[in-house]
Amino acid sequence: MKKIQMVDLKGQYEFIKDTVDRSIAEVINSTAFINGPEVREFQRELEAYLGVKHVIPCANGTDALQIAMMGLGLEPGDEVITADFTFAATVEVIALLQLTPVLVDVEPDTFNIDPDAIRRAITPKTKAIVPVHLFGQCADMDAIMEIAKEHNLYVIEDNAQGIGATYTFRDGKKVKTGAIGDVAATSFFPSKNLGCYGDGGAIFTNDDNLAHVIRGIVNHGMYERYHHDVVGVNSRLDSIQAAVLRAKLPLLDTYNEKRKAAAAKYTRAFEGEDKVVTPVLVGETDSHVYHQYTLKIKGADRDALVAFLGAHDIPCGVYYPIPLHRQKAYLDERYKEEEFSVTNKLVEEVISLPMHTELEDEQIEYITSKIKEFVNE
Ligand SMILES: *Cc1c(COP(=O)(O)O)cnc(C)c1O
Repeated sequence: MKKIQMVDLKGQYEFIKDTVDRSIAEVINSTAFINGPEVREFQRELEAYLGVKHVIPCANGTDALQIAMMGLGLEPGDEVITADFTFAATVEVIALLQLTPVLVDVEPDTFNIDPDAIRRAITPKTKAIVPVHLFGQCADMDAIMEIAKEHNLYVIEDNAQGIGATYTFRDGKKVKTGAIGDVAATSFFPSKNLGCYGDGGAIFTNDDNLAHVIRGIVNHGMYERYHHDVVGVNSRLDSIQAAVLRAKLPLLDTYNEKRKAAAAKYTRAFEGEDKVVTPVLVGETDSHVYHQYTLKIKGADRDALVAFLGAHDIPCGVYYPIPLHRQKAYLDERYKEEEFSVTNKLVEEVISLPMHTELEDEQIEYITSKIKEFVNE
């Protein structure tokens, strides 16, 4: 059996090596390292794939979130609601822009932001909601868009973990994540479902005016060369990264299908195990692209399981071990512990298993058998 890896970027590379190597060499030959034709082509191809009017590539997913919020013109003191259970980038940029982060609890089954908790957190200062499609599963966008409409709030989707997922609205309409809210941010960090070979990110929007504003912000606030109309940033996607992404985008659906197939095998192997709670899919099968395959461990010691797996050469991850509302940087005396009962429990129960496009049956068999051995001992 091959050594098990949390993410197998090398194995994935082997299949696309010829294309990737050739395109990277072409970029080097052309010396169009920044904003070259590869970037523009990738932008168009991603727009077509997502069914979104504008993709604005940038340097990473954290920048993408920040730039999206700058583009919307959010101002210091505006409150932005997001999930307590997510990667820190989401709340970080809210704080950096001197907006007020308002963290709310998530749902126990999907790990995604709880619409009822959003409703409870709305004040006259609330300006935006940032749902995160956590671990690759669509957040409850019917409810979130409804709340946003009712209270006149922006919706900024953090799609860093959800690229390629499709949300089916209750009326049957299907939309790719990232094309639902006012604006969305994604990351092409190497281990993401669509990852490049370094840092990369993008902003999506269907709003022509917002797209124009954002195109200036990513380029030092310039709409005309050396005319700086707004305070911007320098955030660009390198042409070499765009070349890698162009090679991988046509395979994204296949990659996501492989993740789903691996997830289904894991879930089948845990059937009947009452200490192992497998991921709950609430929508259609295309609403979850398994950026992570995350279990909840009940009635067994999660941390001891992590150590046990490590001792058997099985990598795993705890995403996330500390709720954001308890992180030093984001403490706020307005938060009450009882408002975060779900997140507070999840951080003690969750464990994410190896998930990538190259997982082999024999590896899944070994991983699941070791977990079953542990929880039943
Ligand atoms: C990865 C990630 C980000 C940040 O992306 P970077 O490209 O690493 O800056 C933001 N939000 C979520 C939910 C992520 O998983």
